[in-house]
Amino acid sequence: MLAMNTQDHDFGTRVVHAGWHADDDPTGAVMPPIYMTSTYVQDAPGEPRNGFEYSRTQNVTRFALQDALAELEGGAAGFTFTSGMAAIHTLLLTLKPGDRVVAGNDLYGGTHRLFNKIAARFGLIFEYVDAANEATWQDLPADTRLVYVETPSNPLLKLTPLKMSIDAAHKVGAEIAVDNTFATPYLQQPIALGADYVIHSTTKYVAGHSDVVGGALIIRDEARKEDIWFHQNSAGTVNSPFDAFLTLRGLRTLEVRMERHCNNAQAVADFLEAHPKVSKTIYPGLASHPQHELAKQQMNAFGGMVCFELPGGEQPARDLVCALKVFALAESLGGVESLVELPAPMTHASVPPETRREIGIEDGLVRLSVGIESAADLIADLEQALAKI
Ligand SMILES: *Cc1c(COP(=O)(O)O)cnc(C)c1O
Repeated sequence: MLAMNTQDHDFGTRVVHAGWHADDDPTGAVMPPIYMTSTYVQDAPGEPRNGFEYSRTQNVTRFALQDALAELEGGAAGFTFTSGMAAIHTLLLTLKPGDRVVAGNDLYGGTHRLFNKIAARFGLIFEYVDAANEATWQDLPADTRLVYVETPSNPLLKLTPLKMSIDAAHKVGAEIAVDNTFATPYLQQPIALGADYVIHSTTKYVAGHSDVVGGALIIRDEARKEDIWFHQNSAGTVNSPFDAFLTLRGLRTLEVRMERHCNNAQAVADFLEAHPKVSKTIYPGLASHPQHELAKQQMNAFGGMVCFELPGGEQPARDLVCALKVFALAESLGGVESLVELPAPMTHASVPPETRREIGIEDGLVRLSVGIESAADLIADLEQALAKI
């Protein structure tokens, strides 16, 4: 069989085949074997076979996942890590003291913590901006080294205008990293618009089954490959072969899962928006979302995350999440099962309360990761829980 050139095919075909060909293995294995070895025998000192020396540096199973993600994001190379945080951390390690990072102010709580409590101690300068506001991209500080955005953002589902922010970064000679965790390459591919880096918490939609923690960094420019690999290897932030296998296994069904996540989330958002006990529903697929038009332009569909608020703040929200039966009360997102959480006391507890209020994360904000169960069951679950409060 000839190796398929997957670039000739649609996303749904590429996602099933990217990163591995049966011809890559002497046995014709359809999935990459889990190369559980820390080291490789050498034929003579300094003469490893096929370049394989040590698994922190080279591992076949990890390479298969890395290549798959690079291919799907349209990047020159991909790197995978123990977690999404390790991917972001490794990117920051390539910067130096005094470098200015301009970041969206509505970021994953852990990213915010890494920036402010660790990276700032090593001399990086962080400046937070409203990434959803087009005016932000009119003039960036001239000494910006890296722009860092998340779109849609976590938890408020604000969109960064991708083309505009990428052009703005490049205009001042900065690089730009886009956290694509919420969208996945199924919904948007920032590298095609010029982004320098795409970040994933592969823990979420990429792996998709809430059974593995991992992260990825995909680069646009081949010239960055050696440096990123050097930092991944030197910092030792690599994921294990087993985790790489699980992540690749999950990735194969990304398109079918995302289609269902998006359809279910739209149905749930429509239901919540029409419900008299819900004061506000946030979903990029609703015409009421302030950036609905931008979402239609830069995304293929609107994703699986929905947020809403109840009048009366935190207590009714707490009662509601405890009354849900199909939605499990848990942090994380992007798995096949539906989850619910309150960002303020949970995922975003590490963001100071005054900052949360400033950016609009109310104490009673409820975040749903809408799974791939039956939409009717999900809506019925929300209906019975809303009836109780
Ligand atoms: C979860 C998450 C992260 C962090 O990833 P981990 O795998 O939990 O380390 C980063 N960005 C976003 C948008 C996330 O949702």
